[in-house]
Amino acid sequence: MDIKANLEAVKKSFINPACQLIAVSKTKPIENLRAAYTAGIRDFGENKVQEIQAKQPEMPADTRWHMIGHLQSNKVKYIAPYIHLIHGVDSFKLLKEINKQGKKIDRVIPVLLQIHIAEEESKFGFDRAELEEMLSSEEFAQLTHVQIKGLMGMATFTENQNQIRKEFRGLKTLFDELKNRNLSPFVQMEQLSMGMSGDYQIAQEEGSTMVRIGSAIFGARNYSGI
Ligand SMILES: *Cc1c(COP(=O)(O)O)cnc(C)c1O
Repeated sequence: MDIKANLEAVKKSFINPACQLIAVSKTKPIENLRAAYTAGIRDFGENKVQEIQAKQPEMPADTRWHMIGHLQSNKVKYIAPYIHLIHGVDSFKLLKEINKQGKKIDRVIPVLLQIHIAEEESKFGFDRAELEEMLSSEEFAQLTHVQIKGLMGMATFTENQNQIRKEFRGLKTLFDELKNRNLSPFVQMEQLSMGMSGDYQIAQEEGSTMVRIGSAIFGARNYSGI
C-alpha cells in the first residue's frame, strides 16, 4: 500500500484543486496516518470517539481531527477540547450538547450540520422540516459555544451516478439558500462536506468544498459497514 502515491493520484484527479481533502483513517493503524502526515496531510477523519482518543496523542500536535461519523451525545465531552470540526451533527439535541461542552471549557466548537440526502433510511441527518424547526427556535438563537460552518451529506450508495449527482445538487441548493439567509452570527455557510472515494469527483462538480476520502488513500477497510 503506497499511501503517498495514492494521495498524489487522488489529488491529481480532483476536479477542483482548491477542495479540501480529509483523509479518512478510521480502522487504520497509526503508521498509516504517519505516512499520510509525512506526505503532507494534516486533516484526518475518524468516525469513533474511542479511536480518535487513542490516535490523537500518537500524532503531531498540528494534526487536525475531524469527527465524521454519528456522534453520541454522551461522548462529546471527550473530544470537545481538540476536535477541529464535527461533520455529523444530525440532531438539535446533539448540537445543544456540543454547545454545553464547549461552554464548560470555554471553547467555541466548529461543526457542520448533517443533512439527510440519501434514499436510504439508514443514513443520519436532518430532514428539511427538522432543520427549519431548529433554525427558527428560540433555543437555537441562544447557542453561544458552537460555530456552524456549513453542511455535510452522504449520497445513496448506488452505481447510479445521476442519482448521486441529484442528491449532491440538492444539498448545494440548500447550502446556497442558507447562505443567503441572515440566520445568526454563529452560522456561516462556508464548507460543504460531500464526496467520498467513490463519488468525490461528482461532488466536486456539484460544489463540494471538502471531500472525505478513505479507501482510495489507505486501501479497503477490514470490516463490513460504514
Ligand atoms: C468511511 C467514511 C468516509 C470515507 O469512505 P471511503 O469510501 O473509504 O472514501 C467518508 N465519510 C464518512 C461519513 C465515512 O463514514
